[in-house]
Amino acid sequence: MKNLRLILILLLLIAIFSCAKQDVIFVTIGTGGVTGVYYPTGGAISKMVNNNFKEYGIKATVESTAGSVYNINSVLSGDLDFGIAQSDRQYQAVKGLSEWAEIGPQEKLRSVFSIHPEAITLIAADKSGISRITDLVGARVNLGNPGSGQLQNSRDVLEAFGVNEDMLKGEYVKAAEAPGLVQDESMDAFFYTVGHPNDNIKEATSGRIKVHIVPIEGAPIDSLLEALPYYDRTIIPHDYYELSTNTEDVPTIGVKATLITSEDVSDDIVYAFTKEIFENFGEFKTLHPAYRTLTKEGMLKGLTAPVHPGALKYYKEAGLTEHIKPSLIHAEK
Ligand code: GLU
Repeated sequence: MKNLRLILILLLLIAIFSCAKQDVIFVTIGTGGVTGVYYPTGGAISKMVNNNFKEYGIKATVESTAGSVYNINSVLSGDLDFGIAQSDRQYQAVKGLSEWAEIGPQEKLRSVFSIHPEAITLIAADKSGISRITDLVGARVNLGNPGSGQLQNSRDVLEAFGVNEDMLKGEYVKAAEAPGLVQDESMDAFFYTVGHPNDNIKEATSGRIKVHIVPIEGAPIDSLLEALPYYDRTIIPHDYYELSTNTEDVPTIGVKATLITSEDVSDDIVYAFTKEIFENFGEFKTLHPAYRTLTKEGMLKGLTAPVHPGALKYYKEAGLTEHIKPSLIHAEK
């Protein structure tokens, strides 16, 4: 009898121990400011993965960060497991250009998939009289915070029109602060490379100070598109922001948001992330209006870093590899 009780207690302890021992894998996704699209995108991706905790044991969480450049560097250093980054920044990091010119090509960077389109968006107060890029001369303009992706986009656009940064009063604050600064009249305009619609531009267009979105087009943009292959033409639909004083869709140029990781992140984790998004694609698309135009094939375009082997495993199973640029498929471990 005594022995039986001992055995029962022992069995109970083993059961409790094995339950508590179910390992949880914590995974962090770096995003952007809370009013942008990266932050809710990190939320949407982690929701899809966390829904299947039983199968993967993964608990994904989201971090609000400075943006693309910060995310790429933190993924490379191992501080973040995944990050959302603009396709143009991914290109520069892989090739060792721009912010990475001194340290060289970032060979550990891996792509998972691309997400929504992002437009270079220039918001200006109506009373500033800014209706084209050259009107920015002498104005107080936010170009983007260090660590963001848009800082370089603002510089590329200004350069295309021959406007030097010292010809305007450049500010370098986070995009989340810019609408407030325009509304309290301490700033005339701000750049933000972002998906649409988003809360930031809604905030900027719905205040006391009337604002509009400035078109980014013309011969200087035609030349820029020829010189920098990662930019594409796009438009910002006017009806997303009915309180702006625009009356038509606004032409501009843009890039794509992409999900990146490092070769050091395990195949199993990256496989789980890829599979959950692609297998539940219909549900994923409902999680943000900026995903309206997403297609599975489209999510394999706009990548420059080799595709992570964990993601590739899923694309092979799903018969999607033909949509991936062959040069990105060499990174199998
Ligand atoms: N494209 C921006 C950046 O890389 C972030 C946009 C967003 O948070 O949606 O800095």
